[in-house]
Amino acid sequence: MSTLTVVGGGLVGLATAFRLAERGHGVTLVDPSPASGATHHAGGMLAPVAEVVYRQDALFPLMLRSAELYPGLMADVAKHTALPTGYRTEGTLVVAADRADATHLAELTDYQAAHGMSAERLPLRRARQLEPGLSPQLAGAVHIPGDHQVNPRLFAAALLDALGNLGVEIIREQATRLPGGQTILANGLGATALYPGLQLRPVYGDILRLGVPEYLDPLLSRVVRGFVEDRSVYLIPRTDGTLAIGATSREDDRPTPQAGGVHDLLRDAIRLVPGVEECDFLEATTGARPGTPDDLPYLGRVSAELIISTGYFRHGILLTALAAEATLALVEGRDPGIDLSACEPNRHQELP
Ligand SMILES: Cc1cc2nc3c(=O)[nH]c(=O)nc-3n(C[C@H](O)[C@H](O)[C@H](O)COP(=O)(O)OP(=O)(O)OC[C@H]3O[C@@H](n4cnc5c(N)ncnc54)[C@H](O)[C@@H]3O)c2cc1C
Repeated sequence: MSTLTVVGGGLVGLATAFRLAERGHGVTLVDPSPASGATHHAGGMLAPVAEVVYRQDALFPLMLRSAELYPGLMADVAKHTALPTGYRTEGTLVVAADRADATHLAELTDYQAAHGMSAERLPLRRARQLEPGLSPQLAGAVHIPGDHQVNPRLFAAALLDALGNLGVEIIREQATRLPGGQTILANGLGATALYPGLQLRPVYGDILRLGVPEYLDPLLSRVVRGFVEDRSVYLIPRTDGTLAIGATSREDDRPTPQAGGVHDLLRDAIRLVPGVEECDFLEATTGARPGTPDDLPYLGRVSAELIISTGYFRHGILLTALAAEATLALVEGRDPGIDLSACEPNRHQELP
């Protein structure tokens, strides 16, 4: 079997190295600080249905396929580490704060149904039976059973442990040029420095971490997403008694949490789940999503020695399972089993 270098140890690089090592390939992973990029800040929702993006038809099959691959990935990782991943499969509720938000939610649900996705309108009474922490003053609710979650920080730590157990060498250094031999470039926003044909931009997101006091725990048992006066907010209950609240989206080159964004997130979260007001405030951080001009990833082989796997933008935690599986197939010269033509890595190269 060949020896491969994976550059970048965010979730995409870690899971790719895992799939390769598990198959018996010799793997070296290079990252000065694994899981310190977007992965460290991400919410971790595996949400192909709730995150459906209007007119992004090329993205749906990738997201749905990756969601299908997740249970297998989690089961395989668990064979090589005892560490937790925060994987939860209780599903997601999407709620609307007022009547205009309810109209928006109804339109989204129709769009999901038209694309064959499973989303069920719920009477508010039923939504509050499922999640008693929800405000009684909501205007609509939809249940999405297939949208799940992981805790990205825990999952990354579990993958690192699994890689150690599989004998993967981890070099804690910054790659300053492409290594020789078979290489997978999976270093998020850093990929443009090593392969300049890519066009990646940072799309910042503020995200909060709160501690749920014991007397309120569990405040929620599944992901709650909502529309509040046309803004989006989500609340993600973790297995460790914390709650993540996210996330803003801005392209202003300001890599620290913005007071206005933090204020919006807290106010909107409290409107949907009033108990949030009583939680401990633990952390506000900002991460940079690696965005491409068309919001589709760069995933494919560009030469006999180089595979690119980056640009996963808002969906990189969800798309991790697909990225890892498809890269394994590309390395082994097999058909990845899904059409990746929309992800061709050289599609934004400027012609001379
Ligand atoms: C606030 C926020 C919330 C999000 N929520 C979700 C969500 O709920 N669901 C979802 O699916 N996605 C979500 N995302 C998107 C997701 O986080 C990213 O798409 C995903 O983490 C990308 O993973 P990655 O491994 O490609 O990149 P990263 O996690 O950014 O990892 C890149 C790695 O490469 C390393 N690196 C960089 N340059 C070099 C170099 N030259 N040599 C060696 N190593 C290098 C870095 O140290 C880093 O560890 C969110 C993002 C943000 C910011």
